[in-house]
Amino acid sequence: MCPIPNVERDGFKIFIAESLRAQNIEYMFGIVGIPITEIAIAAQAVGIKYIGMRNEQAACYAASAVGYLTGRPGVCLVVSGPGFLHALGGMANANLNCWPLLVIGGSSDRNQETMGAFQEFPQAVRTSIYGRPGSCYIDIPGDFVNLQVDKSSVKYVECCLPPPLSMAEQSTISEAVSVVAQAEQPLLIVGKGAAYSRAENNVRKLVDLCGLPFLPTPMGKGVVPDNHPNCVAAARSTALQHADVIILLGARLNWILHFGLPPRFRQDVKVIQIDICAEELGNNVRPAASLLGDINTVTKQLLEEFSKRRWKYPSSSQWWKKLREKIMSNEEKSKGLELQKSLPMNYYTVFRHIRDLIPRDCILVSEGANTMDIGRTALPNYQPRQRLDAGTFGTMGVGLGFAIAAAMVAKDRTPEKRVICIEGDSAFGFSGMELETICRYNLPILIIVVNNNGIYTGLDTDAWKEMLKSGDPATCAPPVSLLPNAHYERIMSAFGGKGYFVTRPEELQDALKASVADGHTPALINVLIDPRSERKKQEFPWLTRSNM
Ligand code: ADP
Repeated sequence: MCPIPNVERDGFKIFIAESLRAQNIEYMFGIVGIPITEIAIAAQAVGIKYIGMRNEQAACYAASAVGYLTGRPGVCLVVSGPGFLHALGGMANANLNCWPLLVIGGSSDRNQETMGAFQEFPQAVRTSIYGRPGSCYIDIPGDFVNLQVDKSSVKYVECCLPPPLSMAEQSTISEAVSVVAQAEQPLLIVGKGAAYSRAENNVRKLVDLCGLPFLPTPMGKGVVPDNHPNCVAAARSTALQHADVIILLGARLNWILHFGLPPRFRQDVKVIQIDICAEELGNNVRPAASLLGDINTVTKQLLEEFSKRRWKYPSSSQWWKKLREKIMSNEEKSKGLELQKSLPMNYYTVFRHIRDLIPRDCILVSEGANTMDIGRTALPNYQPRQRLDAGTFGTMGVGLGFAIAAAMVAKDRTPEKRVICIEGDSAFGFSGMELETICRYNLPILIIVVNNNGIYTGLDTDAWKEMLKSGDPATCAPPVSLLPNAHYERIMSAFGGKGYFVTRPEELQDALKASVADGHTPALINVLIDPRSERKKQEFPWLTRSNM
């Protein structure tokens, strides 16, 4: 049992913790130090779960993922100065992803402000869940934490109401439906805003009612299941390039969607944009209709309007024929790569085994360049908010924090769900020490490191030895290379989890079966693949430059 602090005696810190609890905050991640250790203890005492991490950056990623998964912000607790600076990466990532997050920092005592006090840092406070979600920083002076407060003088603020749900203006709904009804080659794009707003039931109804082809963004996957017959993810480039009307549901026309511009889109594409953030409307492309409001509410409005008009896109259209043909030819190409028998394995073979052996409803966390990109197409999602990846900021190093957050949330809400974290070897390195956190809290996370000895590509052992003959690796080693055959699985075994080192398909299958069957021990499978294994040839370069 945790000791319950006496409110009158223990002072202000308990009011901080109680205020957080009153706002339905359930999880706090952080690294303690002066003056915030007491806040973590007080948080535990009021029933908030505290997870002590190994780096504030990973703690902040974890807290932000709680915000995405639950709709209430997770808290990241840091000391000021260096702790706050480490957390900045997580705050920026949460802001870019539009995920709510609360960062609490303990700074110097008030009488030392501006005197160059220990870890002093100027900060600001912002809101997290209303409007477009984002991160918010609260700074607590050190002497506040242990301040003695008379309980009767404390004014408690009630839990804030859930964000008000705004509807789009009715005239914009009719306008949007008229544009879609005249489309010859329509496309619905489902983004992570739709996942965050929990619009899955209405978006699924919209797809079925209107027979629209849909394309999920990386984290929009699962809002409508990937195996839905209208999913055109396998014909992504074709769908984007030729669509004449696009309904953009909670996704931005940023780099992930190639800015909505040619050559990836038609010059004359009509975009119907739905977003909660007015500033986002019209960004890069002038929309044919702008629907400002909450996605779930606006989707319901669209459903009503489409039902009234009884409009359905014909499944016999030339557009559907073109998309289906492209889906088939792309799937054939991937299958060819998946079935290759040569050793070392390539990415596609590895993902085929993973797909065949992991539970269907697991939560997938993924990062790394090729590992994330290929995994996105090879591993289906059937439910919303079950894919977490490098996101809008393209941040590497988020994986272990996200996996820890997902495992904590799953433990309380869906204990049958397994968290599987698929990491490139470089991405894994950013927060690898969080394996200790995973083992300390005994979180049943399965980590798979797809190890190609480098960033994008690496050298095999022979090539590495050869390279060393030419001199100091600081002058000769390719900057993309990492140590060949690194035994990352031994870090997991060092902390009491299970580690597997695999080089062959049968070993990979055995390790996957064993760790899935076990179900409760943290495990890491280190899969060595061909350092030269690449993504299949793409029609367009990865990051299409804007023509503007
Ligand atoms: P993706 O990465 O999937 O393309 P983005 O993060 O670019 O998605 O876009 C998500 C969009 O969703 C943001 O512009 C954000 O303002 C919006 N959004 C977030 N929550 C809601 C909501 N409840 N209703 C409407 N839009 C939302």
